[in-house]
Amino acid sequence: MTDCIFCKIANKEIQTNLIYEDENVVAFNDLSPQAPVHFLVIPKKHYSSLNEIDSKDAFADIFSAIPKITKKLGIKEYRTVVNTGAEAGQTVFHIHVHVMAGRKFNWPAG
Ligand code: AMP
Ligand code: ZN
Repeated sequence: MTDCIFCKIANKEIQTNLIYEDENVVAFNDLSPQAPVHFLVIPKKHYSSLNEIDSKDAFADIFSAIPKITKKLGIKEYRTVVNTGAEAGQTVFHIHVHVMAGRKFNWPAG
C-alpha cells in the first residue's frame, strides 16, 4: 500500500533498524517504547488490521516469529498486544503485534 508507513519500513523505503526479518515478516523497535523492550512484528503484506487476516498462514507467520526473536533477546516473559480499530488504540493501520518486556504489566490493560 503506497501511503502506509509500515509497508515502507517492510519494503525498506524507510531506513529502519530491523531486529528480525524472514520471507514474510519483519520486526523493529517501537519509536515510542512503553517498556524497556518494545518491538513490533509486522507482515510484509499489507493487512490494515486483524479484521483483514484471511489465512492461518498470515497469523502463523507473525506469531511464530515472536519466540524466535524473544529467544534471541533472552526474554522469557512478555506482553503481546494487537490493537484493532481506533477505539482499541490502533493508530497505524497495518497490522502489528506489540511485544513488550522488562517491566511488570498490569491486568486488565488500560
Ligand atoms: P498502535 O497504536 O497499536 O497502532 O501502534 C502503533 C505503534 O507504532 C505505536 O506504538 C508507535 O509508537 C509505533 N510507530 C509509529 N511509527 C513508527 C515508526 N516509524 N517506527 C517505529 N514505530 C513506529
Ligand atoms: Zn502497510
